[in-house]
Amino acid sequence: MSLAICPGSFDPITLGHLNIIRRASKIFDKVVVCIMVNSTKMTPMFSIDERVDMAKRVVERLPNVEVDTFDGLLAEYAKKYDDAVIVKGMRAASDFEYEFQMNLINKKINPDLETMFLTASEKYTFLSSSVVREMASYGAELTGFVPCEIIDEVKNKAKIWRDRNGK
Ligand code: ADP
Repeated sequence: MSLAICPGSFDPITLGHLNIIRRASKIFDKVVVCIMVNSTKMTPMFSIDERVDMAKRVVERLPNVEVDTFDGLLAEYAKKYDDAVIVKGMRAASDFEYEFQMNLINKKINPDLETMFLTASEKYTFLSSSVVREMASYGAELTGFVPCEIIDEVKNKAKIWRDRNGK
């Protein structure tokens, strides 16, 4: 059985992420969306439980996709499965350098681990979780950026942040 791992911080999951997950689910028998806990990125807006819950709701209708979480290195997580392939989205040249480096590190830890890249869909090349967080913090409309199932939750969380920071 072919298996893809789509890793990331998903803070929150966006339509760009979902586009990659959906396309991977057509290529592989099974896709595991792995929400990484120990991201080196700044303090997340959503807790790990909130991110997992949102991702689960969003992929509910994709029968061969499941959501997992891991606190550690992706290359270690991948050892849990036989022949898992990492699938990532490639938005722009700026993604390439980082991903190339990550791939080399992953290979050092787990030499059999392969990474495949799907080019971002044209309409989502600009989209990232940080763009969504920024837009939400200013009360902007999120339709077309995050899946409709989680729009209210993202808006509510952003409002709490806004009120807390006195914006
Ligand atoms: P972000 O960069 O949005 O904070 P993550 O760290 O959660 O997202 O990224 C997880 C994976 O999803 C990465 O491989 C990233 O390249 C990919 N990805 C994120 N946004 C998009 C998008 N708009 N289109 C395609 N792939 C994306």
